[in-house]
Amino acid sequence: MNCDMPIEYDLHVHTTASDGTLSPEEVLRRAARVGLKGIAITDHDTVAGLKPAREFLASNALPVELVPGIELNTEAGASEVHILGYFIDDNNPTLLTRLKNIRESRRGRAREMIKKLCDLGFDISYDQVDSLAGGDLIGRPHIARALIEKGYVSSVKEAFQKYIGKGRPAFVPRYKFLPEEAIDLIRTSGGISFLAHPGLIAETKWIGQVIAYGINGLEVYYPEHHPDQVRGYLELAQKHELLVSGGSDFHGEGASEGRERLGYAGISQQIYCKIRSRLPGKEEK
Ligand code: AMP
Ligand code: ZN
Ligand code: FE
Ligand code: FE
Repeated sequence: MNCDMPIEYDLHVHTTASDGTLSPEEVLRRAARVGLKGIAITDHDTVAGLKPAREFLASNALPVELVPGIELNTEAGASEVHILGYFIDDNNPTLLTRLKNIRESRRGRAREMIKKLCDLGFDISYDQVDSLAGGDLIGRPHIARALIEKGYVSSVKEAFQKYIGKGRPAFVPRYKFLPEEAIDLIRTSGGISFLAHPGLIAETKWIGQVIAYGINGLEVYYPEHHPDQVRGYLELAQKHELLVSGGSDFHGEGASEGRERLGYAGISQQIYCKIRSRLPGKEEK
């Protein structure tokens, strides 16, 4: 949570390009309406939302700055570790090729999970999930929405708890992707890397490991972080001379509880300027 700091930048936002329910244009309009000075669009494993977002900003004089970003889901041991990249060059060929491979393996995984659900007696199909995904990327939230659409569960949370969460009967693990690979990929793409929501990492030892791998900053301000965690991560950032970030992990209405309020967490302009000043002599886009 944010304590007394004004929330002027929300640097963790999803759109329909991944598993959000609002388009990049709608997200930007919402950002202007709630008075944010800037947002980072950080879709999972895709940069497809950035071009429409830029075009929308170019043709509508909205006072909102766009940070081109990404969120890479990686695994370390038994923990999910998410790495955020800000100011990436979304035309970088190495980045685009890696993301394309990741998305293809996600499609294979979705097919396997849907097969398991069908074997469990549910009537859902790949085409239904694909059309709900509507874009570049298929993730478990889209499978959850298919189960909701058919009336098998009443929320995304219930779908994870009963069927598609880790250890549940229709779960299939993702491709192998390590935090250090994600950090390298973001660096290669000219961006700066942040450890997303450290408070959600099951095994805390990975926080220190990710710092040792050369992460540039920590996402300190996050809706599910307790004030004690915020204090602890601020101290950790200071100790290791890391940048500080924050964001709401906005996914839009109905996506999943708790991730429905744009600007609910974030950072002040002052903290944002520190992030910008770390950019290696990059022109503003
Ligand atoms: P995937 O990358 O396809 O494995 O899906 C993971 C995504 O599902 C995360 O990034 C979250 O957005 C969402 N998610 C994970 N666990 C839950 C949960 N228990 N309830 C709702 N959404 C979840
Ligand atoms: Zn998501
Ligand atoms: Fe995440
Ligand atoms: Fe996220």
